[in-house]
Amino acid sequence: MAVVGIVPAAGSGERLGTREPKAFAACAGRPLVEWSLAVLAQVCDRVVMAVPEGHELSPDRVLGGGSRSESVRLALEAAPEADVAVVHDAARPLVTRDLLERCIAGLEPGWDCAIAAAPVTDTVKEADGDGRVTRTLDRSALWAVQTPQVFRAHVLRRALAVAGSALDTASDDASLVEAAGGSVRVVPAPPGNIKVTRPVDLRLAELELLERGA
Ligand code: C5P
Repeated sequence: MAVVGIVPAAGSGERLGTREPKAFAACAGRPLVEWSLAVLAQVCDRVVMAVPEGHELSPDRVLGGGSRSESVRLALEAAPEADVAVVHDAARPLVTRDLLERCIAGLEPGWDCAIAAAPVTDTVKEADGDGRVTRTLDRSALWAVQTPQVFRAHVLRRALAVAGSALDTASDDASLVEAAGGSVRVVPAPPGNIKVTRPVDLRLAELELLERGA
């Protein structure tokens, strides 16, 4: 059974404010994406990355698309041998081997997809366009979703074969599987598996990685 890592790393990362695309911003002495690649390489047979324009291409480095899910689709297309696809954002450098293995183990018979997620600790409300709160959600049933997201590759391929507009609005790939009627389960993950979005996230990740190294 071929387990292939799929790493979308083609975003511009404007909110981070670095000159280079987010995945290639320096973090604890390496380009950000290298931290994820190092962990994926420990458990996957192969890792394919979607990169921004201007980066060198190879069988494991494909040009990304205009949206995150489009980048995932293009990287998965370059891995026709995949039976299991382990999608992990370049922007989450604090992923651990333990979390990755628990997500892969979560893909038990009967499930199409197992995704890392942390229980929500904030109270979550819905509000209308005027800012008027319309309801407070039951926090005990809410999960803040992360990556890794582990899929049966044929299910993910099918879920990604939708109109570009659906890919543009998907904030994760599991939602496309849900929309196609697939079964998705959460795997409890630490809230510390943060996504680097703003400069402060990069500093936090750097501190944690340096501490781990020490
Ligand atoms: O923008 P956001 O932080 O949600 O991006 C999550 C991940 O998706 C990042 O690793 C980013 O590089 C990647 N991405 C991509 N192609 C895009 C947009 C984002 O590979 N067109």
